[in-house]
Amino acid sequence: MSKCELSYSHYRSVLDKAIAAGYEIVPFRDSHQISGSKRVIVLRHDIDALINKAIPIAEIEASMGIQSTYFIRSYADDYDLDDDQVKAVIAALSKLNHEIGIHYETGNLMNSDADDPEKIFLDEKTRLERACGLKIISAASHSDKSCRRWTRSKQSSRQTTLLSAIKHSIPCMPKTAVRSLIMGLEVRGVRTPLYRMIKASKDDLFQVVSEDAVGIEHQSWQTRLCRGYVHTMEGRAKWKPCCPCSLIGRYDRLMITTHPEHWNR
Ligand SMILES: [Zn+2]
Ligand SMILES: [Zn+2]
Repeated sequence: MSKCELSYSHYRSVLDKAIAAGYEIVPFRDSHQISGSKRVIVLRHDIDALINKAIPIAEIEASMGIQSTYFIRSYADDYDLDDDQVKAVIAALSKLNHEIGIHYETGNLMNSDADDPEKIFLDEKTRLERACGLKIISAASHSDKSCRRWTRSKQSSRQTTLLSAIKHSIPCMPKTAVRSLIMGLEVRGVRTPLYRMIKASKDDLFQVVSEDAVGIEHQSWQTRLCRGYVHTMEGRAKWKPCCPCSLIGRYDRLMITTHPEHWNR
């Protein structure tokens, strides 16, 4: 096993280890066709910035016969879907048989509660579909604050009440610390209702927008993906809670998320 770092060689060895341990590695689009007992990894990449850096990761996966989902933003600060070079990158990803999903940030694009989240989400999705010429059926959120904005929803207010109850019972612990504590429990195989509630209240657009109405079949907050998997995510160049190399073999179902902008040779 190579050194545990955000290098392409370590990425390759993580995937090698997973294959050797008998995991089936799938993109979101195939995540519903998995039988109950098998070892599964749902593999996901969030393209927050530097879209070109998706290519080396995509090529490594393709060379190993692996497909994953690349979640792309429609209104990124750093890349523009109208740019031909950006379109070429997306075309290259799908030519390698990877899935393109929408990395939505509907809440961030809403100016007020009067804005319709369904309309804004559909605009994000359609813009990406136009850029890649493909139908988008998978979605994952990019630091979306939609639920916080959509305070009138019944479900949202119930969760707000629960969150404040936790804060009240553990007053000296900041919310982020509560979240990472619960994440730690999750990795140890202890699934708590608290954990699910905090995850769900964080940024689940689909509490207020119907998946069917916007043509989404797979999204990261679905119970089946949210609860059924131990999640580990590389964000801001750090794994939370830890690099998947130490989770493979310990848990049968993993969701692994990277941000390819942070990975290097
Ligand atoms: Zn590692
Ligand atoms: Zn993101």
